[in-house]
Amino acid sequence: MAKFIFVTGGVVSSLGKGLTCASIGMLLERRGLRVRLQKFDPYLNVDPGTMSPYQHGEVYVLDDGAETDLDLGHYERFTNAPLHRGCNYTTGRIYLSVIEKERAGAYKGKTVQVIPHITDEIKACIKKNATEDVDVVITEIGGTVGDIEGMPYFEAIRQFALDIGKHNCLYIHLTLVPYLKAAGESKTKPTQHSVGELRKIGIQPDILICRTERELPKDEAEKIAQFCNVERRAVIEERDKEYTIYEVPLSLVNNQLDEIVVEKLALPAKKLYIDDWREMVESMRHWEKELNVCVVGKYVRHHDAYKSVYESLIHAGIANRCRVHIRKIESEKIEADGPEKALAGADAILVPGGFDKRGIQGKLDTIRHARERGIPFFGICLGLQCAAIEFARNVLGLVGANSTEFDLETPHPVITLLDEQKKVTKVGGTMRLGAFPCVLKEGSKAALAYGSTEISERHRHRFEFNNQYREQFEQAGMIISGTSPDGSLVEVIEIPDHPWFVGVQCHPEFKSKPTAAHPLFREFIAAGIAYRTERRGDANRSKPLTLPAARS
Ligand code: GLN
Repeated sequence: MAKFIFVTGGVVSSLGKGLTCASIGMLLERRGLRVRLQKFDPYLNVDPGTMSPYQHGEVYVLDDGAETDLDLGHYERFTNAPLHRGCNYTTGRIYLSVIEKERAGAYKGKTVQVIPHITDEIKACIKKNATEDVDVVITEIGGTVGDIEGMPYFEAIRQFALDIGKHNCLYIHLTLVPYLKAAGESKTKPTQHSVGELRKIGIQPDILICRTERELPKDEAEKIAQFCNVERRAVIEERDKEYTIYEVPLSLVNNQLDEIVVEKLALPAKKLYIDDWREMVESMRHWEKELNVCVVGKYVRHHDAYKSVYESLIHAGIANRCRVHIRKIESEKIEADGPEKALAGADAILVPGGFDKRGIQGKLDTIRHARERGIPFFGICLGLQCAAIEFARNVLGLVGANSTEFDLETPHPVITLLDEQKKVTKVGGTMRLGAFPCVLKEGSKAALAYGSTEISERHRHRFEFNNQYREQFEQAGMIISGTSPDGSLVEVIEIPDHPWFVGVQCHPEFKSKPTAAHPLFREFIAAGIAYRTERRGDANRSKPLTLPAARS
């Protein structure tokens, strides 16, 4: 039978619970165990797909088309555990399911209540993940203990141990131990209160992970152990990382977290293998080159809106031994300042996905700049669509060319809705979502990057390249280098005469890992390095950059 780990948070939000869960999953996986990660989000939207990136950050898409929380991106980047729709639930989705059952008469006349009906539904969603191929289910509860909206989840996980036996469950609580400069001390009181809150609900944490800015003094750790009723060795410091989140699992190993979890749950674990990860993190301290990549988008003010894109750029940097400096530029700034000024010093330019009209002109000006100057360009989803609009207007001379998303009356709808999308009236979960196969043209930049002509990538869009314009584009030098297997949907466009100009309708950023950079990102960065070396000379030949030594 599978064992269950519940990860909760306290004191403040944004402590990196998702990263901690991903790291725990990774350590267990690297001890030979099969893990499944899952997150509950205590808000009422049925999924994050309908939420603004300013509210929520990136919407992370899975193979099965589920639109999920961005923490699932961490889970996938840190582990190989397969994720699916059942790995992310919101309160809205839980209630929807209970209410649908009530309408169907499933409760046979009973009064339907938070306890037991909502809590039972939550417990069922946890249990569903404990399939035969899973040794450990790791469940993250979003928000912090004490939040009104989180209550049913805490109640459900408390009951869970009662149902299946405490020895099959482990409660890990993540808290903050702030350092007060004025007092010159780390303060344990918020952690004590947070654990007090948990114990009031009936949950005694087995392990405390304490986020700290500075080293957690021994006596403070002892105090936490005593006041919170937790073993001393299970009070684990997780200090802020100097420059990469990929250090988190290493510091948890240094504090024996994997050992404690394995022991407490009596898991049949093997010896930890983590050398490749260690080498990867170490390589990030000794870069050989540097590169400036400009990401021009609408939501750059929210630092998590393009989370997976930024991470993929870092992964591609690791693969190329290159420190990637990401410059996030609001596309409206390009409209205000002009591309020349706003993009000065760019070695490579990326336009990510997005929705709606605002900032589109800035993206078109950016793409023209990259296309005309031979700067490596990577367009993702809306980035591909904008590249097509820019090409239509400025190369094909199609005045007013546009996407029907931005102008229903455009005389040249180079990007338009598929017939099946025209019938869609509901917003939630109705885009073209999830993994779809794609066939690449032999010898194209995309095929060379993948080393294959048959690929599968995740999608999240409604609009498509309009097939009526294919011939005109190809004759003028922009080729369709990837399509759906039946040839009906354009998936990849390229300009063969440009050093590296590739647009993709999919979201490759959802399939990149730090130890296995996505091929398109890897080649995009490689092209950026070549551009910088050839056009700008200098910097790449300077001595390798060395960053501060690893902290143990
Ligand atoms: N708005 C565009 C569409 O729906 C692009 C979506 C995206 O970039 N994810 O097709």
